[in-house]
Amino acid sequence: MDDGVHNVIIIGSGPAGYTAGLYAARAMLDPLMFAGYMSGGQLMLTSDVENFPGYPSGIGGPDMMVHMREQAERFGLEIQDKNVERVDFSERPFGIWVEGEEYRTESVIICTGAEAIWLGVEGEEAQKGRGISTCATCDGAFFRDQEVIVVGGGDSAMEEATFLTRFASKVTIIHRREGFRASKVMYERAVSHPKIDIMTHRHIKRWLSDENGLSGAILEDPRDGSEQEIACTGAFIAIGHKPMTGFLDGEVEMDESGYILHSEHTMTSTPGVFAAGDVVDKRYRQAITAAGMGCQAAMDVEKWLEEQH
Ligand code: NAP
Repeated sequence: MDDGVHNVIIIGSGPAGYTAGLYAARAMLDPLMFAGYMSGGQLMLTSDVENFPGYPSGIGGPDMMVHMREQAERFGLEIQDKNVERVDFSERPFGIWVEGEEYRTESVIICTGAEAIWLGVEGEEAQKGRGISTCATCDGAFFRDQEVIVVGGGDSAMEEATFLTRFASKVTIIHRREGFRASKVMYERAVSHPKIDIMTHRHIKRWLSDENGLSGAILEDPRDGSEQEIACTGAFIAIGHKPMTGFLDGEVEMDESGYILHSEHTMTSTPGVFAAGDVVDKRYRQAITAAGMGCQAAMDVEKWLEEQH
């Protein structure tokens, strides 16, 4: 067991975690962060970030995470690149287990994010973050005047497809069945767009690539197994996200999809446990909004700790 009780432990290290760490460190709370084995979160999978204010020429996602980390460390954030295995929030100080060792803390900020769900079909791994993306807002502009596809039939797929019409010459939505989960208004907006085509009853069987990168996909009709090829140089998977909350084992209230619910400002249903970023947010999911919420969580922790003494 690590000796002493920490003021605050931050779990997770995307924009929300690093910003929470920066603010908590500057508030002299001596924060400790468990950044995870793969620190940096989803930004590590993004190429250029062009929509974070303050970078007029854009910045690589991984570079941005290194900068955020260095900035927080400069003010004293202690970071360990380890995964949290389990937590016990039943009494204070709370217990957090990391590689078998127990840590005790008065408060916690959970910033573990959400991960996009990928299809997991042949050829995908090599094109992740290149020809195949899960974020049109992040990567759409790289496909100017190109033909792209969007996989999915929910609001995210409609939104991504509609957004991509700003850049792409043609967008084809590939959906696995006839009915759409998307809201009527977002579906109508997509289908009525002259640049958007929709193909239903199609699975992606495998991705095709050549020396220039992604070149297309083999589609399969699940009704009869027939196959066809579609050409595209970009593909966006929009089949949902899953929040990284499995390790919490229900210790804070979550919605039916596993997203953490706030009960007061950024505090969860467990007093002293706070959450920020994509782990609570299925609507905006942007680096800037996650960073903003990380700031709010650290300020809420500071105030809450003061109230306890
Ligand atoms: P979603 O509503 O769960 O839709 C996921 C879609 O992906 C479904 O059409 C599903 O097909 C398909 N899918 C799932 N697994 C698949 C697989 N392995 N292969 C092929 N297709 C697969 O997810 P979402 O679109 O991300 O939306 C999540 C929530 O955020 C919703 O509540 C949505 O309304 C909300 N949202 C709102 C907005 C907005 O209002 N601006 C924008 C985006 C999202 P099936 O239908 O066949 O299951």
